[in-house]
This record gives sequence, structure tokens and C-alpha cells, in this order.
Amino acid sequence: MSTFIELGLREEISKALTDLGYENPTVIQEKAIPQLIASTQDLKAFAQTGTGKTAAFSLPILQQLDVNSKETQAIILSPTRELAVQIGKNIEEFAKYIKGVRTTTVYGGANIDEQIRSLKKGSQIVVGTPGRTVDLIKRRALKLGSIRWIVLDEADEMLNMGFKDELDQVLEVTPKEKQTLLFSATFPKEVEAIAKNYMHKPIEITSGQKNEGSDDVSHEYYVVNERTRYEALKRIADVNTDIYAIVFCRTRRETQEVANNLIKDGYSADALHGDLSQGQRDGVMDKFRKKSIQILVATDVAARGLDVTELTHVINHKLPDQIENYTHRSGRTGRAGKKGISIALVNSKEKGKLRPIERIINKKFIQTNIPSGKEICQNQLMHLIDKVQNAEVNTSQIEEFLPSIYEKLEGLDREQLIQKFVSLEFNTFLAYYENAKDLNDLASSRGDSRDSVGRVRPRDENMTRFFINLGRKDDLNPARLIGLINEQRITDNIEIGAIDILDTFSFFELDKNFEGQTLTAFEENEPEFNGRGVNIEITKKERTGGGRGRGGARGGKRSPSGSEGGGFGRKRSDRSSSPRRSSSSDRKPRAGGDRPDRGTADKKTGGFGRRRRES
Ligand code: AMP
Repeated sequence: MSTFIELGLREEISKALTDLGYENPTVIQEKAIPQLIASTQDLKAFAQTGTGKTAAFSLPILQQLDVNSKETQAIILSPTRELAVQIGKNIEEFAKYIKGVRTTTVYGGANIDEQIRSLKKGSQIVVGTPGRTVDLIKRRALKLGSIRWIVLDEADEMLNMGFKDELDQVLEVTPKEKQTLLFSATFPKEVEAIAKNYMHKPIEITSGQKNEGSDDVSHEYYVVNERTRYEALKRIADVNTDIYAIVFCRTRRETQEVANNLIKDGYSADALHGDLSQGQRDGVMDKFRKKSIQILVATDVAARGLDVTELTHVINHKLPDQIENYTHRSGRTGRAGKKGISIALVNSKEKGKLRPIERIINKKFIQTNIPSGKEICQNQLMHLIDKVQNAEVNTSQIEEFLPSIYEKLEGLDREQLIQKFVSLEFNTFLAYYENAKDLNDLASSRGDSRDSVGRVRPRDENMTRFFINLGRKDDLNPARLIGLINEQRITDNIEIGAIDILDTFSFFELDKNFEGQTLTAFEENEPEFNGRGVNIEITKKERTGGGRGRGGARGGKRSPSGSEGGGFGRKRSDRSSSPRRSSSSDRKPRAGGDRPDRGTADKKTGGFGRRRRES
């Protein structure tokens, strides 16, 4: 293994890298840096997130930059604001011992005048999102006539997001004699077309095998159906007591719903997607980086700029529409030499997508059983005992209270004391999982049962279907409806079945045994929702047509925290020191259509005819 100096980098750069804790170059750095220092040949690099590609292209540029000239010499295009900011920040860190280097980062959604002012001062390196870069070129604030390098970072993602026209426009205004560096995790034909049209005999390098997943990531799949998908997610979170994960969803709405449900159920979770303001997104990312959120529910695009190296899991709540994106997702874990697990929740139809992914990552998915209630309780209990064992005791602080505590507990022997302590901490959790069903059995059966003409009957005879006079127009969504039901305190752990949210009214299914209590609770509590009185009625009418309406979801069981303040790793209303305290449980669900997230930095239309599903 070489050192950075051996790769040809100057002392000042190597010193900055040491400050950052970079001891040795990564594979892609080892291959790209000497190549780019020695040659002006174009370069095409197969590199995934987390391989150290930012330094791979930035360091040779810094090495050769003319700091005596103020002209823009390098333009780096990246798909999202977050990634652009990250790259700009990295370059400043790399350049901290080189005098006279100026970098400007430009992106949509921020004050353009400030960016113009910064460019006017003269920046040798400009990092930008494609939309804003084109805008600044058109305003003549950004001049690329003298550039020596253009970097297309995450080229596949820029094209995915519909930035083909912008890439063309930027490339058109750059001089012929320049070095084009293209970095991409996948090489669909659209990326190859860019390479073909704009690059001259590029040299190819790779950070491993093309598109292949990291050796440090194992890939598992769990078979679910729409009824068990969310419950399975919760069980995965519950069985992994120290989980630190990104849950990937395909659309903004799915993202917000899953996050709302997790927050409501007391998990330390939050959502990250393009419907949030930049301030909200920054806030969420910051909390996640600092680990005050353990589970981040995100769209592919929004999670791009997030640089965290210690994820224990990546969970595909739904597999991405473009199977190539699976490598982007799973590449978020197993970084910096750490092991990680990438989990896919798949129904029987989605299972078919695994095989092509296996071919890309060159690895097999392992089918794993959704953890049973018993396994979860066992793990949680042992986690608790470990914490007790490792707890630091500050005798001086508790000393004065001890005599009265000892006196109170005098009658209990050691075993009784342990039992009571465990029960105190654990009863709610045990109760929640006591009669927990085997989701692996449920998953193999269909969620819906249809009669011979395709009408959908209530999923099981034990459910009663209720009509409620609220719908999407009232901002009702499944998470808020579950919240409303839970607020009525009908009974602990009530089973909630299918939910159909329609425009002006909705339906939900609840455990038949609590039919009367449900009606009474709503009658007596007289709940209001967004200022409207709430009415519910039992409906005997069967649901018809092709299943649930838009916004339909399954409720699942109320979690322990929903009723009594939670079990382990969940928020407890009576104990603010919960290890998985939710930091944003008071946030209202945000509006947003069910469309794929393309980020907010630069909103564009078009693309290469591959707009993903809008539903
Ligand atoms: P990137 O693929 O550029 O997003 O880098 C992924 C992560 O690895 C970032 O947190 C970098 O700071 C870090 N990194 C990059 N190169 C090295 C290196 N040679 N040694 C240690 N960490 C690195």
C-alpha cells in the first residue's frame, strides 16, 4: 500500500490528509491520483459512494491548480445540494495548507446573488448542482472558458434526476482541451452515451468490480406482505438493539408515512425527503449524524449527501424502481472497514427483483426470518442486563438516598429484586410481544382476500370495518388516523387492520371484539380533527374494486409506547432518558405527493424518459 506522498501529492496536501485522519489511500485514490497527475487523458471511474472518490478527483486537481490565476479551472457537477456542499467542504479541508485556493459551491434553493458575489471574487474551483450551474452560466456570472477539468460526480444519479439537458449545456460551453472525469456507481446506457459524446478515449478505472457491492456488506431479505411490512420493520428495529439505520423508501409520501408511524410508535426516527425545506433537511441530517436519531427514513435522492460511516443497517422498505440504485443504497453501510447489513423487505411479487440485483452485486441474498416476539424480548432483555452490568455508579451522588431505599426494599431477597426490576422495565414489552404472531406465516399468505369476482372482503372475520367522516381533504393519512384511534384509548394493543383514505371520508378496520367500545369511545370523547367533529359508523359494505384506495395502509398493532409509554428502545412519555428518544414526535406530517424524490435543489423536468411511477 502506498502513501499519499508516494502517489505524487505535495507535502501540504498530505499534511491536510493526516489532519483528517486519512492514513492510506483507498483503492480508487490509489488508481486515480497518479493517473490524473501524470496524464491529461479523460477518466471514467466506476466508484460507489463511500469509496473515497471525492479525494480521488479533488486531490490531483489541487495538486495541479494554478493558484496565481483567479480564473475558474475546475467545475465539479454533483446531483444534489447536499453532495455539492460536502464536496466543497472536503476540498477546503484538503486545501487548508495551500495558499490562495478559492472554492465556491453553487446550488439551487439558495440566494443566487451571494453565489454571484462569491464567483466574482474569483474561484479556481466551482462545485455545483447542474440546474444552478446552468443558471449562473446564462447570467454570465460563471465562466467556464478556461477550465482544465470537469468532474461529473455520480453521473448516473444526475441523469436519473433528469439533468441530461443541463449536463449537455455545461459541457457545450467548456473548452475542447480539458480533462473530463466521470464518476458513477452504475453505467446504464445513458451514462455511456455521455461518455461517448463528450469523452475522448477515456481510461477506465474501478474501485472494485464494476457495480459490485462491498465485501463488508451482507445482504438479507425478509418476505412480507402489505399487512406485515411495517410490523417487520419494527421487529428488525427491536431485535437490533443498537440499530443505526437508513430505511429507504421510493416516494416522499411513503417516506413520511413510515417515519410518522415509527415516531408515533416511539422509535427514534425522522424523515428526510425533498418536500422538506432545506433548513428541515439540514436539521434532520445533523441529528442523524449526531446519532440523536437512530432510524432515518429517506428517499434515495435526499440521502445522497449524507456522509455517515457507521450505519449498522440499510433497510429497503421497498426496493428501488431502478435496480441499479440498490448498490447506492447498500453502499451506505459497510463503510470505512465496518461491517453492515443491507435488508430488503419484499413481497412475493418483488422477490423476482432480487435475482437481477444479485447479478449486479455479485452476491447472494440470504433469506432471513422476521424475528419472533421471543427473540426480540430475549435480545432486549440481554441488552438491558448488559446496560445494568456496565452502568457507572456514582456513589457520592446517590449515597444520601440509599439508606431509605435499602429500608424500603428490605423484605426482598436478591432474586425477587431482580425479578421486580426486570418486570418493571420489561412488562410492557413482553405484553406487546406475548401473543405476537409469526409474521413469516402471515407473510406467505395474501393480505387481501378476494371473492370470486375480485371484490375484496375484510381481511379476516375478526375485523370490523368502520366509516369515518374524514379524508385526505382533512389532511388525514394512515399515520394520523392511527394516532386518532390510539388517542381514544379504546383498549391496549388494539389490532388495527386495513385503512383506506379517500378524499372526503375513509375506512378502517379494528378488532371485532372491541366494536362496541370503539363506538362508545368516539362518542364519549367527542374527538375533533383539524377543527372538525369526528363521526364513525360501522359499515357492513364490503370494499370493492382493486383493493385499497390511495393512501391505503395497514395499521398493525398499537405498540407498547402508544399506550403506556413504551418498552426498551422506545420513547416513554414518563422517562425522558429513553435511549431511543424520538426528537421530533411533535412534528406534523408534511404534505407531499406520492412521487419519487428528485431533491429540491434544482427542480427539472425531462430526463431520459424514465420518470418513475407517479401514483
Ligand atoms: P467519499 O466516497 O468521497 O464520499 O468518501 C467516503 C468517506 O470516506 C468520507 O467520510 C471520507 O472522508 C472518507 N475517506 C475518503 N478517503 C479516505 C482515506 N484515504 N482514509 C480514510 N477515510 C477516507
